[in-house]
Amino acid sequence: MGLKPTVTSLIVCGACGRMGRAILEAAAADPAVEVTGLVDLPAHAGTSLAFRDRTIRVQADLPRSPKGVVVDFTAPVATLGLVHEAAVHGHAMVIGTTGLAEAQLAEIEHAARRIAIVRAANMSVGMNVLLALVRRAARVLGDEADVEIIEAHHHGKRDAPSGSALQLAEAVNEARGRKSGEGWVHGRQGMPGERRRGEVGIHAVRGGDIAGDHTVLFALGGERIELVHRAHSREAFARGAVRAARFAATAGPGLYPMTRVLGLEA
Ligand code: NAD
Repeated sequence: MGLKPTVTSLIVCGACGRMGRAILEAAAADPAVEVTGLVDLPAHAGTSLAFRDRTIRVQADLPRSPKGVVVDFTAPVATLGLVHEAAVHGHAMVIGTTGLAEAQLAEIEHAARRIAIVRAANMSVGMNVLLALVRRAARVLGDEADVEIIEAHHHGKRDAPSGSALQLAEAVNEARGRKSGEGWVHGRQGMPGERRRGEVGIHAVRGGDIAGDHTVLFALGGERIELVHRAHSREAFARGAVRAARFAATAGPGLYPMTRVLGLEA
């Protein structure tokens, strides 16, 4: 008899949302995962969602068992409660929710002493490769290049700029040996004056059903480089989230970035 393959149990939080539904689809296509719970606001409790050849009812509370991986794509106000509950019940976690404040991030770091947590503002493979390329370009070009980050998302997105745009800006600053946030300019209007050396401009475009575009522009004298990532649909994030859940299921306590899940780190 062969060994039974390990199946990862997912508890999808924000199940009725855009990402929640995309994750259900991605999970249904992966034989190595099972969905054992769906969670959303009380207003959605009782709704039945299709998963493979059956339906699962949405609950308002996180189930205690079986132990699984809580996949959170909700809203910043919800994430911390889920993190605390997951830590108490011993569930691992994947956090995709963006717009989290510094204090919330610190609490997530604290909870990661007890459980495995993968957190990434963008779970797509392509975006994580873009991050690595941007780091490389910023290191090579230094302050010679004027860096501008332009992101575009659908009109329902609540936070701006996107978590991924901030991560890209962070990658540029790290590569140039600057502190987080140093020199970042969000949008420009009025009379901002001449562009300063080392500045990173960040711009948010909102409209229609754009799943998520990010352009990082390195403008030099006489030439420019544009590194672009476009997500065609939420499938790219959902597949990444399922991959992150499989990683978290077997990882020890700790806070892991998506680059670690994808083996992009040295
Ligand atoms: P959405 O508004 O379509 O869905 C959010 C869902 O969460 C809704 O069904 C809502 O009812 C539910 N929810 C809100 N509060 C809750 C609570 N307290 N408990 C349980 N459920 C709750 O939003 P979306 O487009 O699916 O995005 C969700 C989050 O994921 C956002 O923060 C978005 O920026 C982020 N996101 C991340 C990635 C990534 O790759 N990391 C990709 C896309 C979106």
